[in-house]
Amino acid sequence: MAVTHGHGNPNWNRDETILALEAYFALAGKSPSAKDPQIMALSQTLRALPYHGEAARKPTFRNPDGAAFKVQNLRSRETGKGLGNVSRMDREIWDELGANPAEVTRLATLIRAGIVANLETASRQVDEAEDFEFYEGRLLTQSHIRRERSAGLRKALLKKRQGDALHCDVCGEAHAGLSPELRAAAFEAHHIVPIATAGEGPTKLSDVALLCATCHRLLHRLIALKREWVGLAEAKAVILGSATPLS
Ligand SMILES: [Zn+2]
Ligand SMILES: [Zn+2]
Repeated sequence: MAVTHGHGNPNWNRDETILALEAYFALAGKSPSAKDPQIMALSQTLRALPYHGEAARKPTFRNPDGAAFKVQNLRSRETGKGLGNVSRMDREIWDELGANPAEVTRLATLIRAGIVANLETASRQVDEAEDFEFYEGRLLTQSHIRRERSAGLRKALLKKRQGDALHCDVCGEAHAGLSPELRAAAFEAHHIVPIATAGEGPTKLSDVALLCATCHRLLHRLIALKREWVGLAEAKAVILGSATPLS
């Protein structure tokens, strides 16, 4: 049996394991092989899921060998053979759903519907990205947007800016009257360095500003209209009204 370890692929999450269990039931006791259409379809679905970001682009990510291996692990949960490879997630999913194929089918159908919804969201994001694609080019633009939307970055930025510093770096709006949970939703991270300059590697907190959603949108649009990078000072001047765009 091919091995999935050693490629640095991320652990399987709940949704992925449920899809593997669905394939296991569909194989009806047959030993899973990477060439089985059922396993190849599973691999394809897993590779379309939105969970693992950059890691999901590696050719080894959830490839048919890896998918077959996972189904084999679930199978050994039932047969009791080769249990050493069974993860805690495998055990939990098996204990919860191993006796309930109908529920597995229902959940797997919902997960697949989620992939379609996610693709629609992704294409909307590309539309937005076209706002400033002129300047950075499509790939860099997408990379820029993806970084700005990273949940970890946002969380770290909000933490750094808590208290008096929690306000838009362009217009100063603080939404101080809102409850903390609601207030955070008013703000977004904005990269103040073009990705082409910042290079690859983790985003530095010092490279991001905190903007209200409106100013962020206006600033991206301004970059697209001017077809050149616009810094915070210039954005402030334009958005707060002391300069006209395209001047
Ligand atoms: Zn603002
Ligand atoms: Zn931005």
